[in-house]
Amino acid sequence: MKILIATKNEGKIAELRSLLSDERHEFIGLDALSDIPDVEETGNTFAENAKLKAAAYSTHFGLHTLADDSGLEVQALNGRPGVFSARYGGVKKNYDAKIRLLLEQLDEAENKDRRARFVSHIAFASPNGDVLFEAEGVCEGSIAFKPKGTNGFGYDPVFIPAGFDQTFGELSDQVKQKTSHRARAIAKIMRYLRDFA
Ligand code: IMP
Repeated sequence: MKILIATKNEGKIAELRSLLSDERHEFIGLDALSDIPDVEETGNTFAENAKLKAAAYSTHFGLHTLADDSGLEVQALNGRPGVFSARYGGVKKNYDAKIRLLLEQLDEAENKDRRARFVSHIAFASPNGDVLFEAEGVCEGSIAFKPKGTNGFGYDPVFIPAGFDQTFGELSDQVKQKTSHRARAIAKIMRYLRDFA
């Protein structure tokens, strides 16, 4: 069975591809397809956005589809940027600028609690858009005082996962693949897919 990995985010695609190892299914990316629709993320939660992306892409392409909605929740910012992580400071701002903004907002916040978590919600939909399974993974950690390292993507240079003293930007891909929010969500999806047709 073919399963579409419905994301345009190159960082996510690379991680999802290496996490999804299953001989019974063929995983294809949006890069293998043409006429890719823009799906607006209008939900207020990771779950709502993952489900709406999975349903929209699966019906458009007539394929079983996995979609991830994820983001960073920072304690001192009352859970922001959360579902707005990709749009934080505006879609056109690159990640150096988004990270600068995050560090400035943390400096200015009254609450100095730098604890943070990455959340990944993944939805699996059938070709007619029914959401068949959902899984969520969380990676607890904290926000560094300055960006370090170039591995990974997005906010990785300022995220220190719990139990480590380096950022995901500095830690190896192997460490991220074992500890990340996405790895935890995918492990649940893989258990489900193993018994799926
Ligand atoms: P969306 O799920 O496409 O709305 O975007 C998720 C956004 O959350 C990404 O563009 C990143 O800004 C952030 N994000 C999600 N997962 C990670 C991660 O593993 N590392 C760094 N940033 C992440």
